This record gives sequence, C-alpha cells and structure tokens, in this order.
Amino acid sequence: MGRVVHMFTSRQRVILRQIVSPPYVYRWAGLLTTIGLVVGVTVVVLSDVGAPAVVAAGTSPAVSSGPAGVPARTAEDAPARGIPGQARPAITSSRLSVTSTTTDRPTVALTFDDGPSSYTPEVLDILAENQARATFCMIGEQAVAEPAMVQRVVAAGHRLCDHTFTHDATVGANDPSLISTQLGRSHRSLATVVNPPVDVDYFRAPEGKWSLQLDQVAAQTGMRPLGWSVDTLDWTQPGVAAIVASVQRSVHPGAVILFHDGGGPREQTVAAIREIIPWLHDQGYEFTFPT
Ligand SMILES: [Zn+2]
Repeated sequence: MGRVVHMFTSRQRVILRQIVSPPYVYRWAGLLTTIGLVVGVTVVVLSDVGAPAVVAAGTSPAVSSGPAGVPARTAEDAPARGIPGQARPAITSSRLSVTSTTTDRPTVALTFDDGPSSYTPEVLDILAENQARATFCMIGEQAVAEPAMVQRVVAAGHRLCDHTFTHDATVGANDPSLISTQLGRSHRSLATVVNPPVDVDYFRAPEGKWSLQLDQVAAQTGMRPLGWSVDTLDWTQPGVAAIVASVQRSVHPGAVILFHDGGGPREQTVAAIREIIPWLHDQGYEFTFPT
C-alpha cells in the first residue's frame, strides 16, 4: 500500500483520498442527487400511467353532445326531484329509448300517459292547432271503453304506446310468461280497438318501474321500451307555470317529454301545453316520435 501511495504526488494523494472518503458536503450532495433522481423517475412513471386514465375520462360518452352542442341527457341524468310520498322510481333499464332523434335538427317527442280520458280531446285540439305529433301511452281498459277516442288519436297521425291494461306498476316483477300474457292482452286491446288495427310501437312501464324481463317481453311483443328525458311532474299538479318552466329549463334536442292526459285532474297539463308547444316551435323544435 505504501508503495502505491508513493506512486502519486502529494497533490494526487489528496484528490485520491477525497474520492475514497469525500468530505461531508460531497456526501450530502451525492445523497440529495440520488433522492432527486428517484423522485424524478417516480414522477415520470406515474404520469405515464395516469395519462391514459385522463384521456379515457375526457372521452367518456357521458359528456357526448347533442346536435346543437347541448349536452345529451342520459337516463341517469333524468330529473330525480323527489316529492315526499310521491317519488317516482329511477329509470333502471339500460334499453330504454329516451332520445327521439338521430338527425341534426332539434326535435322533441311529446308523450302523454294514462289516457284516454275526458282531457284527451283538448290535448288533441292543441296538438292539431300546432301541427304537432305526439305519442299516447294508453291504459288498455280505458282504450277499450273509449274506442272513438283512440280512433281519433290514430286518425290524427299520433302513435300508440302500451301502458298495460290496468296501469299495473307491479307487472315487471312477474315471471316472463305472465308478463307475456299481460302485455299480449294490453297490446292486442290497443291494436284492435281501432279499425283497421294499428301498430302499437312502444311500451312504457307504469310509474317507470322497469325490469329486465319487462324490457325483453315488450321487445318480443314488438314494442320499443319507452322512457323519457324530461319529466314535467304534471301529475303532481304543481301549477301551470311550474309545468311550463320544467320544460323550458330541461328541454334539449332529442328530448322525450313526459306529460299525462289521464289519471287525475289534468287542467294544468292542458293549460301548460297551450304555452309550451308554441314556445317549443318558436325555439325551432320539430315534433317527432321517439326513435
Ligand atoms: Zn302511467
């Protein structure tokens, strides 16, 4: 060792000693550099892993836009405004058709549930005055009792929707064979109450109480499960202004708007659509059927 040391000059020996046993300041510098490198590499690795997740979130279909750049509503977006004791169940089916259009024009589908009733003629008059089409989700036993009313609806170019024979909100809990019997009866009653028989294009579960088997049987019976994207809550009789405002606040291209022309006093609904339908027309909306 001593001979090796003598191979270097005293200056070289000092440098060698500092390399083998560096002063504390260099040891700290080395440690901090190592920590810095480890942290830096970790940040780079984590940001690489995170990037695809951020991109995926940004392209989620949940933020898809409607034809006019207005965010399209999904079933999950449907208003969930609760009214104590009267809350409607959320739409749970993934197969519901809740948008009415795939065109680039702003369209809305007006739907009326729980008729026919004594209010249906007034609704038909207002639709005719505005050259608007609508879909009527009828209760079978009421349709059978008022065939002329159903005939008038069909003759005016509107479409029919099966809303069960007795507005049975528990139908979806039954087994498929019983549902098939029930929907067969209501579908047939609507289709054949008019002459000639008509297609019944849609099925809407009473109170929006859907089930997978209800969806499937409706489809097997040739009816498209029909939901909605704007709930006017008109059946709670919140006042004409509130019904009008609910549409003005929530309407969007492709909206399916839920009204009721039966099931209780519907003076408010009739008065509200007298304002809403011309307003929608002024906004550039066309009236079409759910697709
Ligand atoms: Zn109903």
